[in-house]
Amino acid sequence: MKPRDTRERHMTHGFATRAIHEGQEFDPTTGAIIPPIYQTSTFVQDGIGGLRNGYEYGRSGNPTRASLETLLASLEGGVRALSFASGLAAEDALLRAALRPGDHIVLGNDAYGGTHRLIDRVHSEWGIRNTTVDLADLDAVREALAADGTRMLWIETPSNPLMKISDIAALVELGHAAGAVVVVDNTFASPALQQPLSFGADVVVHSTTKYLGGHSDVIGGALVFADEELAAKAQFLQFAAGAVSSPMDAWLTVRGIKTLQVRLRQHSANAQAIAEALVGHAGVERVYYPGLPDHPGHELAARQMSGFGGMLSVALAGGAEAARRFAESTRVFQLAESLGGVESLIGYPSEMTHASVRGTALEVPDNIVRLSVGIEDVDDLLEDVEQALRR
Ligand SMILES: *Cc1c(COP(=O)(O)O)cnc(C)c1O
Repeated sequence: MKPRDTRERHMTHGFATRAIHEGQEFDPTTGAIIPPIYQTSTFVQDGIGGLRNGYEYGRSGNPTRASLETLLASLEGGVRALSFASGLAAEDALLRAALRPGDHIVLGNDAYGGTHRLIDRVHSEWGIRNTTVDLADLDAVREALAADGTRMLWIETPSNPLMKISDIAALVELGHAAGAVVVVDNTFASPALQQPLSFGADVVVHSTTKYLGGHSDVIGGALVFADEELAAKAQFLQFAAGAVSSPMDAWLTVRGIKTLQVRLRQHSANAQAIAEALVGHAGVERVYYPGLPDHPGHELAARQMSGFGGMLSVALAGGAEAARRFAESTRVFQLAESLGGVESLIGYPSEMTHASVRGTALEVPDNIVRLSVGIEDVDDLLEDVEQALRR
């Protein structure tokens, strides 16, 4: 089995301290303050079966990957974390670890399009059924959970791209009452702003590609578990199916995480300023940002999160045509999929990130533009948005 960092966790330290130090001991042979990247596929044995610290082969375990996993478990407050080659690889391992043919999963009707595609088009072939519901409608959730064979409730909050906020604690209660494993995709908030396991969730899912990596230079995913039993099943799949993160990718992600808290503070401040500037603008029909007092999830977000994050969406009064022109007219905001990097990105969900859910219940209105607000100078971002709206 894979070796684990068994050191006592420094749970008494604050978040920013753990983000920098957890799982990151200096190299004992040279004193190098940054642990080296163990760019190796295999490990020499001291006689047959004589493994050093349990390391045998790179798919089953690698010290760089282990350092990332130790770090993620600490930041989310879990017993164990597993790192994968992408967010969807992590999700796939979790679904296969927790579900069997005939099982039923309930997920939000605004879940990430790729998550819906994985469940609805891949896992459906293996007999997994799903129902999508509005997670804000607790009666509808309760009803969906009552279906035969329900084993999982999948929450994403804030959701993409309309920034809906779901009540994790209330949904955990409903999910557990129905005997379901409660999963929260925490990609949008990151553990710097929200820690779902502290509200009773069983598993946290991440696309570490986004805020955790934070620099748009690595694809990765992770699972963090409140409980050893499901963690062990998923770890077996990580090893047996092999969608692991590479040592270099794990190292880059660790490097990114060191600045997670300070980045999220700046992402949140910049997004708040842009959201406030967009409200009341003639070309803007509506701004979706949980930091705005009239956002329907504002109070819940203020309770459940320690900041409102860097993602916002805007509905253009001029419809699809205006939305497309806006998305193609910014200069600092780059037109690209993805989110969570230090640089600002702009996207047109209905044809970019959410193209896979067109024609489904998860379809996104065609006048919506999504902004991933970076940590550049806010004045440059404001001016960029203003000039693009004028066009
Ligand atoms: C990007 C994303 C994923 C998928 O992660 P990949 O790293 O692209 O595989 C899952 N959930 C959310 C919320 C995402 O934004």
